[in-house]
Amino acid sequence: MARIGFLGLGNMGLPMARNLKKGGYEVVGFDVVPAACKAAVEAGLDIATEPRGVLEGAEAVVTMLPAGEHVRAVYLGDDGLLAGAAQGTLFIDCSTIDVASSREVHAAAAAQGLAMLDAPVSGGVGGADAGTLTFMVGGPDDAFARAKPLFESMGRNIVHAGGGGNGQAAKICNNMILGISMIAVAEAFSLGERLGLDPKVLFQISSKASGSCWAMLNHNPVPGIVETSAANRNYQPGFAAAMMHKDLKLAQTAANHAGAATPLGAEAAALYTLFVNAGNGGLDYSAIIKLIQGAKD
Ligand code: NAD
Repeated sequence: MARIGFLGLGNMGLPMARNLKKGGYEVVGFDVVPAACKAAVEAGLDIATEPRGVLEGAEAVVTMLPAGEHVRAVYLGDDGLLAGAAQGTLFIDCSTIDVASSREVHAAAAAQGLAMLDAPVSGGVGGADAGTLTFMVGGPDDAFARAKPLFESMGRNIVHAGGGGNGQAAKICNNMILGISMIAVAEAFSLGERLGLDPKVLFQISSKASGSCWAMLNHNPVPGIVETSAANRNYQPGFAAAMMHKDLKLAQTAANHAGAATPLGAEAAALYTLFVNAGNGGLDYSAIIKLIQGAKD
């Protein structure tokens, strides 16, 4: 049975590690927060006594950490995972981080002859729990082929997006489309309502016309229109506004770096900053309609 190390056992990491174990792997995890380690032990996982303990005998190590600074700290430097790794160890970073940090870690791994993939996910905690995540993967073909069975234990839709950092690039480009289109849907439905248009009628028309989009069809921000919408559950996420905010900021950082013009992406990031700074980060991202409508709560 292959042994897998797993670093970062938070909201996403723990259920992902659990699904690896269910898939027949021996999983040894670690988290800097003792309560996360305790929850992992209760879930039947083995826990290392220190971060680099996850390397011992591991064929692959998965990391699921908050941001680029954590990923750089964990992988790089004399005490990092890469410095302590045996040749042949495969590294898979599933965190959502900035493209530049991801490519920096890829380059450091390659310089040591170690295989590395960036593999951010979509699907949220529900998808992590159910093993139905989407993985957007960047890195060499042979590393992708080796990692595929691991991804299949944790997810359903697994796409190789190209070289190192391309998984992160795919994720932020996709989520920039989603953020911008959610704001567009929120604006159009708010305008329609002000003009005396029943939102259900607007949906009936637009959902089958040129204005249709995924955000409108699946996460419609107006309650009572689409069954799957968080709007019907008082905007409980779903996909939290704080997460959308993070991804839109990552998209802006990448756009600045690459010299790409993303004026609507910048506007979307600014609107989600206003919304999150007003204390709404825990609501679903579709609740941005409240900001558009000038709603009091
Ligand atoms: P989380 O904060 O619940 O978990 C992160 C874990 O990493 C924490 O338990 C933290 O203690 C641990 N950690 C931090 N530094 C560490 C270190 N040096 N060594 C070991 N552990 C360390 O966050 P999450 O919701 O699980 O998200 C993880 C990543 O997945 C983020 O990049 C996030 O953007 C991305 N993501 C989250 C969701 C979601 O719905 N929660 C969806 C898609 C992607």
